[in-house]
Amino acid sequence: MENNPIDSVVYARTLRQTRRRRKVFFATVLTYIPALYVVHSISPTTRAMGTFFAIWLVFLILATILVTVSKCPRCGNYFHVHGPTLLILRKCLHCQLHIASNELPGSLNGVVPYNK
Ligand SMILES: [Zn+2]
Repeated sequence: MENNPIDSVVYARTLRQTRRRRKVFFATVLTYIPALYVVHSISPTTRAMGTFFAIWLVFLILATILVTVSKCPRCGNYFHVHGPTLLILRKCLHCQLHIASNELPGSLNGVVPYNK
């Protein structure tokens, strides 16, 4: 199995993109309560709270879609989806690649990458 620099760049970029999308998702989830508190302290009306919730929900849906379509650089499958199930875990649901892995594409452990 050859290990050319282009594959390494694509591999690293795909894994970095998956990590970034996870961070955006968790940041969106974790900012809900603090942002709700801020909106409530500025304007405690039902309309303001409802508007905030609608905007936050749009961001949550977008973040969830981005996490869902994140690909694993090692096996090429969706990193967090196995069948109909979305599980945002730290390992790929197909090849068990860890999200914090620094491995290079040459160490594939017998898994054929999707771009070959
Ligand atoms: Zn994988």
